[in-house]
Amino acid sequence: MAHADEAALFNKDESKVDWHDKALWFVRQKRDKSAHKVKGWETLRDLASAIKANVMSNLDNYLVQFEENAQKNGVTVHWAADAEEHNKIVHSILQQTNVKKVVKSKSMLTEECHLNPYLEANGIEVVDTDLGERIVQLAKEVPSHIVLPAIHKTKEEVDVLFQKHLGTKPSNGDPQYLTNEARKHLRDKFLKADAAITGVNFAVADTGGIVVCTNEGNADMGAHLAKVHIACMGMEKLIPQEKHLGIFLRLLARSATGQPITTYSSHFNKPAPGTEMHIVIVDNGRTEQLNREDFRASLHCIRCGACMNTCPIYRRSGGHSYKATIPGPIGSILSPGKDLTKHSDLPFASTLCGSCSDVCPVKINIHEQLYKWRQVIVKDVPQPVVKKTVLKIAGRVLANSKMYGFAGKSARFILKHAPRFVTYSKFNAWGEARDLPEVKDDNFDTWYKKRQKHE
Ligand code: SF4
Repeated sequence: MAHADEAALFNKDESKVDWHDKALWFVRQKRDKSAHKVKGWETLRDLASAIKANVMSNLDNYLVQFEENAQKNGVTVHWAADAEEHNKIVHSILQQTNVKKVVKSKSMLTEECHLNPYLEANGIEVVDTDLGERIVQLAKEVPSHIVLPAIHKTKEEVDVLFQKHLGTKPSNGDPQYLTNEARKHLRDKFLKADAAITGVNFAVADTGGIVVCTNEGNADMGAHLAKVHIACMGMEKLIPQEKHLGIFLRLLARSATGQPITTYSSHFNKPAPGTEMHIVIVDNGRTEQLNREDFRASLHCIRCGACMNTCPIYRRSGGHSYKATIPGPIGSILSPGKDLTKHSDLPFASTLCGSCSDVCPVKINIHEQLYKWRQVIVKDVPQPVVKKTVLKIAGRVLANSKMYGFAGKSARFILKHAPRFVTYSKFNAWGEARDLPEVKDDNFDTWYKKRQKHE
C-alpha cells in the first residue's frame, strides 16, 4: 500500500493519532527549550555540518585511518558491501565463538539489514535490550521511530503485551511497574548472553574507538558482560577526531529528546582482557548515495529523530506508514536511493514546510532534497495516467494568464452552485475531512483592481 493509504489506516483511530501527534510535539518542544539554552547553538550546527561534509569528501581516507587505529587497539574490523554480507559476517563471528544467545542494543543498521530474523533462522536467540525495541520485538513489529521505537504504542497496550509475554499482572498501564518488570526480564537475558551486538553513534578516525549513546545503559551492560562484542556501523558514522565528539554529543541528545546529554555516552576502544571486539563497517547503498551530489548530504544524518518529531505528516501518519527502516523526512530522502520504484511515494509525503531542515542538528537540506527526489521520480518512475494528464493540463493553465483567469472563474462558479454531493465526492480528498472555505465572487486580481479604482 502507498504511504497515503497506510496513513489513512493509522488515522482511523482518531484519539490515538491525536495522542501520537501531541507526544511527538512535546518532544519537539523539549528540543527547542534545550537548544535555546545553548549559546552558539547555530555555530554548533554549522560546525557539525562542515565536519560531516569534510568526512564525506574524504571518506576513503578516514575509513582506512579508522580501520588501522582500531586494529592497533586489538579490534577486528570487517567490511560488508551489503546487508547480506553484514548478516553473514555477524553470524560467522557468532559461530566461531560458539554463541547461541545474543543481547542487542538499539541499532537502526541491524534493522536495515534484517539481522534478527537472519540470526533467528540460524538458531540464535537475539534479544533487543532497549525497552522500546523490546516492546516492538515482543509485538513482532518493527520500530516506528528511530529514537522512540514504540512511540505508536500506548502504555495500556504495553501492559497487555507484557502480560502475554512476560507473565506480568494487569497494572492498567503503570509505567513504573512495567519498566521494573522489563528490567528483571532483561537482566536475566544479559546474564545469560554470550555476545552483545551494539550500534555505533560515532566512530572516531584518529583513535579507532567508537561511541554508543543510550539512555538505559543497555549497550554497556551487554558489552561488559559478554565475552564477544560486535559493533555494527554504517560507513558514514565517522568523525575525524575525538575533539569533534563535543560538538556532536551536545547536538545529538538535545535534538533527540531535549536532554543536555544522553545518559550513557560510552566509549569503546579495545576489547577487555579475555574478550573479543569486532566492528562491522557496512556500505549497503551508502556509496551510491555518496555519489549522488544532490542527495549526498543525507549521509550527514546522526539519527536524532528531530525531523520526525517536527514533521506534521509523520506525526499524523505514524512511522509504519513509510514502510521503510528509517521513516519520516530523513527516511523519505534515504529510501528512494535504495529502491526508487518501491519508495517513490515517500518524497510526496511532505508539505515541504521546511521544519525538518530547520531543526536538523547537522543542517541537512531535507525539504530541498524531498523536492529534488520528486523531480527525479516524475522523470524515472511511470506515473498514473490520471496524474500525468491532470498535471499536464494544470501546467498549461498555470502558464497562461487568460486560461488561468477563466479556470478560476469556472471553479468558483461550480463550487458555489454545484450540489454538495458533487463537491464533496470521493474525488475531492480535501473535502473528505473538512469543509472548503467560503467561495468568493472575485479573485484577488479583480478585488485589487476594484479597490484601486475606489481609492
Ligand atoms: S536528518 Fe537531521 S533531524 Fe533528521 S534524524 Fe537525521 S540528524 Fe536528526
